[in-house]
Amino acid sequence: MAIAAVQSFLNQLYHELKGLSEGRVATYIPELAKANPDWFGISVVTLDGQVFEVGDVAQKFTIQSISKVFVYSMALEDYGRENLLKKVGVEPTGDPFNSLIRLDEDSKRPDNPMVNAGAIATTSLITGQDPADRLNRMLAMFQRYVGDEVFVDVSTFVSERSTGHRNRAMAHLMLNFGLIDEHIDEALDLYFQQCSVLVTCHDLAVMAATLANKGVNPLTGVQAVGAEHVRDILSVMYTCGMYNFAGEWAFRVGIPAKSGVSGGILAVVPNQAGIAVFSPPLDGHGNSVRGLKVFEALSQEYGFHLFDLSLGHCRFAQGLQQT
Ligand code: GLN
Repeated sequence: MAIAAVQSFLNQLYHELKGLSEGRVATYIPELAKANPDWFGISVVTLDGQVFEVGDVAQKFTIQSISKVFVYSMALEDYGRENLLKKVGVEPTGDPFNSLIRLDEDSKRPDNPMVNAGAIATTSLITGQDPADRLNRMLAMFQRYVGDEVFVDVSTFVSERSTGHRNRAMAHLMLNFGLIDEHIDEALDLYFQQCSVLVTCHDLAVMAATLANKGVNPLTGVQAVGAEHVRDILSVMYTCGMYNFAGEWAFRVGIPAKSGVSGGILAVVPNQAGIAVFSPPLDGHGNSVRGLKVFEALSQEYGFHLFDLSLGHCRFAQGLQQT
């Protein structure tokens, strides 16, 4: 049976990388330690709704830091670009995602919304009448991107809530500097809930494809976020999405992306596709080891680097042809 070239390429990558034993599953959130290091899925969703996938693409896991992208998109809508910029910067830190050093040194605002401090500050700005209303608005937002119902994994939420002392310390420091208001326990709960939203690798690719498609979910046609916000979202993903590996990622892969400690990486190839990889073992920066290798190979094969795209060097159309 004829299959698209991209499907054969994904199959090949999957088989090449499946046996890789580098990296470690995150354990600092006790629930995450239960992940199977062999889980591995790759999913590509095009703007016309074609789906190419291989491996454990239907395995559910908690979205973790990847949620920061979507909550930032919500804050842009709730608060407006300029107001939000006053509260949370857009400067890469070069520090680990959970660092609180710069918060203490330079207390004007957290550096960017993709590290924990900036993400907690962003979450604290989400509007709503009460905590339940804010959570429901957030779940509705995720639902627009995914195209299906989403749920919070209560075990992971409780696990993070009872062990997230660094995140609590950051919230207290930010309160001390007057960067967030005094409802820090509510903001932290909402942050732990957003990190505990259950997704699959397939869902992440659809979410990425929505951002690649000017904010419209290509499978449902629903506008998940105003098209006017997409450029800002992709900019912070590009500069800050891969933690203290962001510069190297921009150089080697060149696709706006976001990773999370549960092993997901989501990447947006504007006007082409959304791509996601799920594989729990992480490197020292907290990025999925197999994920990095898959994206490096895909970027190379199809000319997905932004500076290949802008020079017209994208070769994805060939990838969509049958072989
Ligand atoms: N919930 C995690 C935390 O706050 C998210 C971190 C991540 O995915 N990098 O530590």
